[in-house]
Amino acid sequence: LRHLVVVLGDQLDLDASGFDGFDAATDAVWMAEVAEESTHVWSSQPRTALFLAAMRHFALALQAAGRPLHYTRLEDAGNAGSLAAQLAADIARLRPAGLVMTAPGDWRVLQAIKAVAAAAGLPLDIREDRHFFVTVREFAAHAKGRKSLRMEYFYREQRQRHGVLMQDGQPEGGQWNFDADNREAFGSAGPGLLPPRAGFEPDVVTRDVIALVQRRFASHPGRLDTFAWPVTREQALQSLQDFITHRLPLFGRYQDAMWPGDPWLYHSHLSAALNLKLLNPREVVAAAEAAWRAGHAPLASVEGFIRQILGWREYVRGIYWTRMPAYADGNALDAHEDLPAWYWTGATDMACLRDALAQTLAHGYANHIQRLMVTGLFALMLGVQPQQVHAWYLAVYVDAVEWVELPNTLGMSQYADGGLMGSKPYVATGKYIQRMSPHCQGCRYDPAQRTGDRACPFTTLYWDFLMRHEQALARNPRMALQVKNVARLSDADRQAVLERAGAIRRGEVGHG
Ligand code: FAD
Ligand code: SF4
Repeated sequence: LRHLVVVLGDQLDLDASGFDGFDAATDAVWMAEVAEESTHVWSSQPRTALFLAAMRHFALALQAAGRPLHYTRLEDAGNAGSLAAQLAADIARLRPAGLVMTAPGDWRVLQAIKAVAAAAGLPLDIREDRHFFVTVREFAAHAKGRKSLRMEYFYREQRQRHGVLMQDGQPEGGQWNFDADNREAFGSAGPGLLPPRAGFEPDVVTRDVIALVQRRFASHPGRLDTFAWPVTREQALQSLQDFITHRLPLFGRYQDAMWPGDPWLYHSHLSAALNLKLLNPREVVAAAEAAWRAGHAPLASVEGFIRQILGWREYVRGIYWTRMPAYADGNALDAHEDLPAWYWTGATDMACLRDALAQTLAHGYANHIQRLMVTGLFALMLGVQPQQVHAWYLAVYVDAVEWVELPNTLGMSQYADGGLMGSKPYVATGKYIQRMSPHCQGCRYDPAQRTGDRACPFTTLYWDFLMRHEQALARNPRMALQVKNVARLSDADRQAVLERAGAIRRGEVGHG
C-alpha cells in the first residue's frame, strides 16, 4: 500500500485535495466510526446520527467511484474506540508507506493524527482544504498588523477577490451591506403559509444508523423520530435548490425573526451539509448570485445570505485556526456559573427558551437569532462559564463542528475572547425578543418588568449584567448609552435587581 488517505466524518467530498493523485491500484481510503467522537464531548442523538449516516453514504459513493476503502463501523468487533487508536491499529495491519489527508477542521484531531503518524514513523501529507474560499495563511496575512479585526472589511476583500456581486470593481447596488432593508419581524398577522422544509425520508442505511444510535447512545439528548437531514451529496444539492427556489427571496427580510413552533422559516438549513462538505460554499454562493441576476430574489436577500457564507463562515474559521489552542480557554468576563440543567431538557417556563430548546432537541437545529439572542444571550447574562456553553452548543446542533461553533459561542455570543469577534457583548432585555417574535404574549413573564414576580428573567439579568460589568464596559464607547442608563439606577433599584437575579441563579425562577 502506497498511501492511506484518511477521511474524517466532516470531509465527505470526493473532490477534496486528499484525493489528488489517488491511484486505486496502490492507494486506499481510511474511515472510522468511533465512540470517542460522540463522547469526548457530549453529542446529541441527531448530531451523531447525521454524521454516521452521511459517512456510510459517503462510503457507498467511494465504492461507486472505485476507490478501495477500509471502513470501521461503530459496532465492529475490535473497534478501538478512538480515531487515534483505530488509525494506529490499521496502520500496523495495512502497512502503508505514508498517510495523506485534507487538513482537518478540528485542532484536537490534527494533533492526534500527527501524533499517530509520528509514533508509526510515517510521513503525513496534510493538504490545504480547498473547500474554503480563504486559506488560513491568507487569513493570517489579512489579520496581521490590524489592531482589531472586523468581519465587514474581511468580507469586502473577499467580494472583490472572488468577484462576487461586483460590477466594475464596485459592489452591486452601490453598497456593500443591505442590513437596513432586512431584519423584520412577522408582525401580528404571523408568517402566513411557510414553504415546507426540504426533508428526506431516511433510507435503509440511515434507519440502521438511527437504530444504532438509539441503542448505543440512549442516554444522549435529542430525538430521532423527526430525522430528515440530507445525508448524501444529491440530497444536499436538492436542499440547496429548494432553498434558492422557495426561501431565498424572503431570507433577508426575515433573517432575524422567530415564530413559535416553526424552526425553519426562510433560513437555508444548509449549515450541516456545508460543514460535512456535502456542499461546496462556491456552488451555494454562485446559486444565490445567479438567482438575483435572474430576477428571482432581491439583492438585499442575496447579499445578506452571501455575507453569512463568504463573510462569517470564512471569518470564524480564520479566527479559530489563527488563535487555537488558547482561544478555547477564553473567559474575558470571568464567568463561573453552571449551565442550567434545563438546557438539556427544555424544562423551563420561559416561553422563548422553551421553544428554542424544544426544536433544538427535536431537530438539532435553531436559527441564528435563537442561538445568539435566546439561548446564548441568557447564558451570557446569567454568567455561565463559557466552556460549559461551548460544550452545550457543540453537543446539540447537527451543524456543530468546533472550528465554526467555538468562535461563534465563545467569541460572538459569550464575549469570552474579550472583543476579538464582536466589538461589544450582545446584551438586551426581553424587549428584543418581544420585538422579533410573539413569544412574550404566551409567557408568564413580562419583558417590560425588571423586578418583581412577573419580571422577565432576560430583563432582570440584563441590568444585573450591566451592574456587574459597569466599570469594564464604561471603557467601551459602543456601550456608552447602556452604561449611562445603569448609572442612573438608585441603590434600591440595584438591590431589587440583585435579589431577583440571585433567585434566577438559584433556579427559583425560570425552571419548567
Ligand atoms: P442560514 O441562516 O440560512 O445562513 C446561511 C449559512 O451561512 C449557514 O448555513 C452557515 O453555513 C452560514 N452562517 C450563518 N451564520 C454564520 C456564522 N455566524 N458563522 C459561520 N457561518 C455562518 N454555525 C454552524 O455551522 N455550526 C455551529 O456549530 C454553529 N454554532 C453557533 C453557535 C452560536 C452561539 C451562534 C450564535 C451561532 C452558531 N452558528 C453555527 C452560526 C449560525 O447560527 C448557523 O450557521 C445557522 O443558524 C445555521 O442555520 P442555516 O443553515 O439555516 O443558516
Ligand atoms: Fe422570553 Fe421574557 Fe418574553 Fe418570556 S417574557 S418569552 S422569558 S423574553
